[in-house]
Amino acid sequence: MHNQDQALIFELSTPGRIGYSLPEMDVPELDLSALLPDGYLRTEEPELPEVSELDIMRHYTALSRRNHGVDSGFYPLGSCTMKYNPKINENVARFNGFAHVHPLQDESSVQGALELLYDLQEHLIEITGMDEVTLQPAAGAHGEWTGLMMIRAYHEANGDMNRTKVIVPDSAHGTNPASASIAGFETITVKSNEHGLVDLEDLRRVVGEDTAALMLTNPNTLGLFEENILELAEIVHGAGGKLYYDGANLNAVLSKARPGDMGFDVVHLNLHKTFTGPHGGGGPGSGPVGVKVDLIPFLPKPIIAKRGEEFVLDYDRPQSIGRVKPFYGNFGINVRAYTYIRSMGPDGLKAVTEYAVLNANYMMRRLAEYYELPFDRHCKHEFVLSGRRQKKLGVRTLDIAKRLLDFGYHPPTIYFPLNVEECIMIEPTETESKETLDSFVDIMIQIAKEVEENPEIVQEAPHTTVVGRMDETKAARKPVLKYQQA
Ligand SMILES: *Cc1c(COP(=O)(O)O)cnc(C)c1O
Repeated sequence: MHNQDQALIFELSTPGRIGYSLPEMDVPELDLSALLPDGYLRTEEPELPEVSELDIMRHYTALSRRNHGVDSGFYPLGSCTMKYNPKINENVARFNGFAHVHPLQDESSVQGALELLYDLQEHLIEITGMDEVTLQPAAGAHGEWTGLMMIRAYHEANGDMNRTKVIVPDSAHGTNPASASIAGFETITVKSNEHGLVDLEDLRRVVGEDTAALMLTNPNTLGLFEENILELAEIVHGAGGKLYYDGANLNAVLSKARPGDMGFDVVHLNLHKTFTGPHGGGGPGSGPVGVKVDLIPFLPKPIIAKRGEEFVLDYDRPQSIGRVKPFYGNFGINVRAYTYIRSMGPDGLKAVTEYAVLNANYMMRRLAEYYELPFDRHCKHEFVLSGRRQKKLGVRTLDIAKRLLDFGYHPPTIYFPLNVEECIMIEPTETESKETLDSFVDIMIQIAKEVEENPEIVQEAPHTTVVGRMDETKAARKPVLKYQQA
């Protein structure tokens, strides 16, 4: 840790210090009051820090070094797919023709941008096995809600007004029940069996004439492939419900299996996960939704259509659920995903899946000796361990996560999914080398040994970070959300 980082302070202002110097003004001063209505002009000087350019540069550079990102270290955050974001994506997103278009420009002047979006949709249709795709939703959860609103509109258009329930497995991502509830449905939980898969008996029990849809993540959040997927689809379709596929983590099946072929009616993807959009910290995401043919009329409008050689925004969609995002989604992230898909090609995308799955299984096998493995079977892109053995020795999974910080790693996802006690959920992704995987595993093994021999060092971690252990209860109950001068 550099001294500069330790000494980071916020009160840098020195009266009179400035970041630039301009020559004396030699033209008449503009009379702003003639341009702006009364009340819009400030009457006092703004209170801004008075700093030099160098002061501000060092301040922000020091702040940036307190962040952990994929570009600075391993980030095995299960379910979040923190994979490397290739820099060619950034280059392309900055092309003038993409970066400098305005969303209110006439369609005829943004044909290239529309063509890129149209072509991206075509690729996603191919990848998911669906019939049509919208790029409007700005995130995975937004895609879920959009998909469920379409399912709702579909049932209503059929006069099927009593389908008020959405079935969600107990291992589902928290956004699934939340989206269902915001879309006006009641959620029914279906249990997992002892293998970590949806319990078909329990599903048969809860499914019925009031079922609007089943939302399923496959592979599920335990990293396991739902092997009874076709039977599951039959049960739900048999009862008149629709099948929703949470494809946020498509990394595990990309170019190998398609939700459309498994019988699903709706799927959302997270372009900011599988398709290398930068994410975390709330950057703009993209959660496109693909649908089968009978849901096409309900897609958000406008849709991008091709008329002859021309690309147009089609608003003439009487059954559409309406617009779900201003303009046409987060354009920049869609450009990045498109660049990724084109630069990888079909063979590259297949290799993604193979390495993502290989990496996860490799780490799982190496760690299984030191941490409990609740579901001892071949995993997909991620796997879960349980810290139960360590908890018996007085060390919680949270302590292990904090100890990892001392070695420069972002911890895995912990305490999720909820159906595994002291859960540790690891997703290495395909972009990491064997050396990185091995170093991380070595440290996890070292921590397991520390738990047995010297638990305090783990319980009191982190020791090397700028900020130590937080009082999590106080942070949740009494959050201080803005900077307070000491
Ligand atoms: C990340 C994730 C989501 C939510 O995606 P956001 O873009 O964060 O809204 C939904 N489901 C699963 C399985 C996920 O991993």
